[in-house]
Amino acid sequence: MSLKNTKIVGFFSLPSQSLAEHNPSAYNNAMAAAPAGAGACSECGTGILHHVVITDLDGSNRRFIGSDCALKVGLSRHQIVNRLTDEQIEARANAKAEEANARRVRAFDVLENAGIADAWAVYLETGFDTAYGAYKVGVNGNRIGRQEAIITDIVTKVVQYGSISEAQARFVKSLLSQIADRPRLEAIDAAAADFPVTSERIEIVGEVLSIKEVESQYGITWKMLVRAQAGWKVWVTAPGNPGKGDKVRFFAKVQPSKDDPKFGFGSRPTKFEIINTEAAQAAS
Ligand SMILES: [Zn+2]
Repeated sequence: MSLKNTKIVGFFSLPSQSLAEHNPSAYNNAMAAAPAGAGACSECGTGILHHVVITDLDGSNRRFIGSDCALKVGLSRHQIVNRLTDEQIEARANAKAEEANARRVRAFDVLENAGIADAWAVYLETGFDTAYGAYKVGVNGNRIGRQEAIITDIVTKVVQYGSISEAQARFVKSLLSQIADRPRLEAIDAAAADFPVTSERIEIVGEVLSIKEVESQYGITWKMLVRAQAGWKVWVTAPGNPGKGDKVRFFAKVQPSKDDPKFGFGSRPTKFEIINTEAAQAAS
């Protein structure tokens, strides 16, 4: 007889020998109440106290087997140890799936109400893949960017806790716009001219992309990353007090980087000016 197409529908135990010794009448009553066929595994014939009740998938052919035989046909130890019928196992799995689904729907509502529903798409496309213990590969075949990784972390917590702070929602919004802006920046990078190779001091006009405080043996200095009008980028000391996004002009000696033909370093900048306004640009 095959146990392949069976299901677990119940459990019961016969009274133990110690009950027979200490309370013979209780033992006899329990034995009398036991169903016909109890006491032996219908599969292998071994005498058993603890019975797993099985039927065929259509509910017919009810019979009893021992837990050893039950384990052999792939019934889980968890199921046998906790005396869970197949129906109970399924109900638990359904309840779990339903709860997980409710959390996800709630998270989507939270994101939508915060005006950042796009974060959900990022989470679905590039979320943490628990099966591999790593972030999924992005749709373009690259490992996902820093922005996607942060969004995924935040959305994971929204799924877990069902809320997001205003500050986090603002942060996610800025990350989403950085992702949206990526193709434009990549196009600029692709179209950029090579970094100039010259021993002359050259005039550089461009936009400050970022500013960073750097500690050196001379104390704290400010460095800036400037994108020149020709598209290449230069890392150089910030002589004035420029902010991110400022248009600047200065003269410097330049040195191309070893591994990026469109990036290099500037030194000893002079005649530094911020030329943000059109008036300033017109006057120059
Ligand atoms: Zn058996």
